[in-house]
Amino acid sequence: MSNRARRVKKNFNQRILRQFSKSFAGEIILPGDRSYPRVRRVWNHAVNRYPRLIARCTNPDDVIRAIHLARDHDLPAAVRSGGHSFAGHGVCDDGILIDLSPMTQVKIDPMNKSVRIAPGVLGNQLDHITQAFKLAVPLGSCPSTGVVGYALGGGTGSLTPKFGYGCDHITQCELITADGRKVTASEREEKDLFWALRGAGANFGIVTSLELRLDPIEQVLSGHLKYPIRHATKVLAFIEDYVSGIPDELYLLMAVLPHPGERMLNIGVVWPGEPRRGEKVLSPLRKFLKPVEDTIQVRAYLDEQRAGSDNPGDGEYSTCRRAGHLENLSPECIEVIVDHAANAPTEASGITLVYWHGQWCSKPRDDAFGFRRSGYHYWIHSYWQQSKAGPQAQRWVHDFFSALAPLSTGAVYVNDLQEEGEERVRAAYADKYERLCQIKSEFDPTNFFCVNQNIRPALNG
Ligand SMILES: Cc1cc2nc3c(=O)[nH]c(=O)nc-3n(C[C@H](O)[C@H](O)[C@H](O)COP(=O)(O)OP(=O)(O)OC[C@H]3O[C@@H](n4cnc5c(N)ncnc54)[C@H](O)[C@@H]3O)c2cc1C
Repeated sequence: MSNRARRVKKNFNQRILRQFSKSFAGEIILPGDRSYPRVRRVWNHAVNRYPRLIARCTNPDDVIRAIHLARDHDLPAAVRSGGHSFAGHGVCDDGILIDLSPMTQVKIDPMNKSVRIAPGVLGNQLDHITQAFKLAVPLGSCPSTGVVGYALGGGTGSLTPKFGYGCDHITQCELITADGRKVTASEREEKDLFWALRGAGANFGIVTSLELRLDPIEQVLSGHLKYPIRHATKVLAFIEDYVSGIPDELYLLMAVLPHPGERMLNIGVVWPGEPRRGEKVLSPLRKFLKPVEDTIQVRAYLDEQRAGSDNPGDGEYSTCRRAGHLENLSPECIEVIVDHAANAPTEASGITLVYWHGQWCSKPRDDAFGFRRSGYHYWIHSYWQQSKAGPQAQRWVHDFFSALAPLSTGAVYVNDLQEEGEERVRAAYADKYERLCQIKSEFDPTNFFCVNQNIRPALNG
């Protein structure tokens, strides 16, 4: 046991523990237990925290008991579903980790195109179940992201231009509030809370069940075009012209990727409509410059989802990421991107840009999601496995971000944030922030749920 873990264990009172374990149905893990070192870790290994107790909940009553344990002893609490927060918000130091990953129930109603999920359900699990009925919730391409954490913060995926964000599909939430009450929020009940949960959902309670609307999808025309990085200026300038004429439902991603020999610029596309029309839409893109690789073809949607993302594959990685938004790809932006992308410190470092457009991505909607805007959403990222590689990788991300920031709008997608301070959280919610503070003061006036991209309770609430 490490010194940190030993100190944390000593701090916990045995009598309280015995009391708690009498009523808690799930597993309780303490420092020194065999599984503690594994279970306390989150996806981003740069985050290394030691909770006093891990409460692995199996039902909503367990969640209530874990909240009371933390409150009664004035301990901080972290809430975890899939553990994929880049900021590492799925774990805290010296508090209670409320781990919802054992809660994996899924109930699908294909006739009504609806699914109800518990918080431990992961992206690939939901995709497999819904695709058995040729239905889907628009999810990202990472198979192990928690669907609840993803959707409560917005949720962007390749079907977003056609069907909307993950949060647009939420029709009902069941949650436990900071004072241990079971509450249901929907268009009919607790309307303010329902508004807030769709975009800022980590702040108001612990969601124990989410009902989501499903969309029909079976196959897509998708794949990527790869160009050597030396052609990046030409390709990105072409993209800026091309996007002005594309139909709403085309998903378009640009990523600088490692490749043996020379780094590559990857243009990824997903067309969820009629394939022949998609071929026509994609024809100018496929023809303007011969790529090293063109994998675009009709495939099952599930195969497209399995094709993966810009994240490295197997293994445990630390990561640093800074994200933002560009209105357009001006020659100045392209110059900054190409200069920095060509000098990445590790193979697994780069920038990814997604072009958001169409109704779902640009028109205001009545929810708390603050990143509904057209233009280029970008994230600069670096991954490393040896801790000595960390400082250089982080410096590169920060330098790149600082160079692009003056050309950016200042908007940011909340699920992309690391620990970056209150100003960046405000930027993520823009004009919705003040209303969120009011709702926070009603449902969590003491800011019990604070291990998150935090909305502070309004003082006059
Ligand atoms: C490899 C990778 C790929 C990704 N790809 C995409 C992508 O394609 N599109 C996209 O939009 N996002 C993507 N993300 C970001 C991801 O959607 C967010 O980090 C999301 O918050 C992760 O949810 P989680 O449940 O896995 O994480 P967790 O770390 O468990 O939780 C994230 C936040 O939500 C809170 N929370 C978790 N569960 C609950 C609950 N039940 N009730 C209330 N609050 C809760 C946590 O306290 C924390 O603040 C990716 C992340 C990673 C690491």
